[in-house]
Amino acid sequence: MLRTSRRGPGHIEAALTLVGCGSVGPLGHNGPVTGPVTHDRSEALFARAAAVTPGGVNSPVRAFRAVGGTPRFIRSASGARLTDVDGLEYVDLVGSWGPMLLGHAHPGVMAAVQEALARGTSYGAPTEAEVDLAEEIVGRTPVEQVRLVSSGTEATMSAVRLARGFTGRDLVVKFAGCYHGHVDALLASAGSGLTTLAVPGTPGVPETATALTRVLPYHDRDAVTALFADEGDRIACLITEAAPGNMGVIAPDPGFNRFLAATCADAGALFVSDEVMTGFRASRRGQWGLDGALEGWSPDLMTFGKVMGGGFPAAAFGGRADVMQMLSPVGPVYQAGTLSGNPIAATAGLATLRLATDDVYARITEVGDAIKDAADKALSDAGVPHTVSSAGTMFSVFFAGGPVRDVDDAQRQDTTAYAAFFHAMLERGVYLPPSAYEAWFVSSAHDDAAVETILAALPAAAAAAREAARG
Ligand code: PMP
Repeated sequence: MLRTSRRGPGHIEAALTLVGCGSVGPLGHNGPVTGPVTHDRSEALFARAAAVTPGGVNSPVRAFRAVGGTPRFIRSASGARLTDVDGLEYVDLVGSWGPMLLGHAHPGVMAAVQEALARGTSYGAPTEAEVDLAEEIVGRTPVEQVRLVSSGTEATMSAVRLARGFTGRDLVVKFAGCYHGHVDALLASAGSGLTTLAVPGTPGVPETATALTRVLPYHDRDAVTALFADEGDRIACLITEAAPGNMGVIAPDPGFNRFLAATCADAGALFVSDEVMTGFRASRRGQWGLDGALEGWSPDLMTFGKVMGGGFPAAAFGGRADVMQMLSPVGPVYQAGTLSGNPIAATAGLATLRLATDDVYARITEVGDAIKDAADKALSDAGVPHTVSSAGTMFSVFFAGGPVRDVDDAQRQDTTAYAAFFHAMLERGVYLPPSAYEAWFVSSAHDDAAVETILAALPAAAAAAREAARG
């Protein structure tokens, strides 16, 4: 077996339960055992992975670079828990970055998927599951029509193209710190000279790809008003996360999204609300259920992903019927996908949404509140500057004093303190996002024992954060 010298900090992990995996367990044992804790299998896999995949991972944050150490390779997951290839079990607060609203391997979702699998995996022709899923999405949100795609990136890319095709205009407006997938035109940050001029956020995106993108500070109404006064007749759309979740979770000020929708409407631009993360998560009807539904406005276009795919690669964009009718094959704006509306993914998403009852959201609220309160108390007791921030049932903990209202505030975080906190939690059997800039995702499968594991780990993790804190 390949070995590397990389080890996570500390070895308190002996306190963890080692779980066997039944009769063919890679550890060669059944049931809980105690003994020295190792990460040999994760380390060996990471070394193999790094030889054949850049950084050893297929999406960057998974590599633990922001917190150090070796990523855990996961073998299985059930309910609120992950089991890694070394047989260590963790209470999961990542939830596949949002999709696992019902927890892992929910019996209802698994049964639906197994039934669908027996009928084949992809046909490249329409299916009933796609119609059912589209109807479910239309039933919960203000969109009149929806098209299924395979990732959130595809959804936002397609929504921007559609907005440009519909309006015949070319400019796209976004906010600094909002992430909409790795679409070239949206991988831009504000340039230092002119605050709104977008410069590519990564090599590989040419300046011409972001030349038509404008980036504004989140929550800055004056900047929005000024830009629309200046260039409003060129703006195809303004896209925003319905509630930012990719710089940590920030709730939009009351009325902020309504203001954006109205500003777009006045200028003849489209308002695109990205609910890839918040959709069917922040509330049953997403962030829109917390503002637009109550205030009486709707986005022109919306994007969805994560929960609506039930853990499979499925996403969607939708909106006003007159705008959606611009899409091929009815309209001239081209958009397509070999695996779009894949029957297994559509089945998993549909089962997830149908099982996401009010009880599910009530449980997620209850679990989230317990974790937020305990994290707040533990960090306060330890004297670690922090801000607990939520949007509906979504939340994160910033390792910086508040208020946190935009990306500049979020970047005041003490990421060194977070790294220590993260590892202390991991050693105590809690899997947090390996970056300070991410939401903590709970599920309705987080039972009392899972919550207890998290609460029990917090005081020592807060102390570790204090120890590591800057200054
Ligand atoms: N939009 C938002 C708001 C997201 O949070 C994400 C993913 N985190 C995306 C778009 C991109 O989705 P995907 O990773 O499926 O391409």
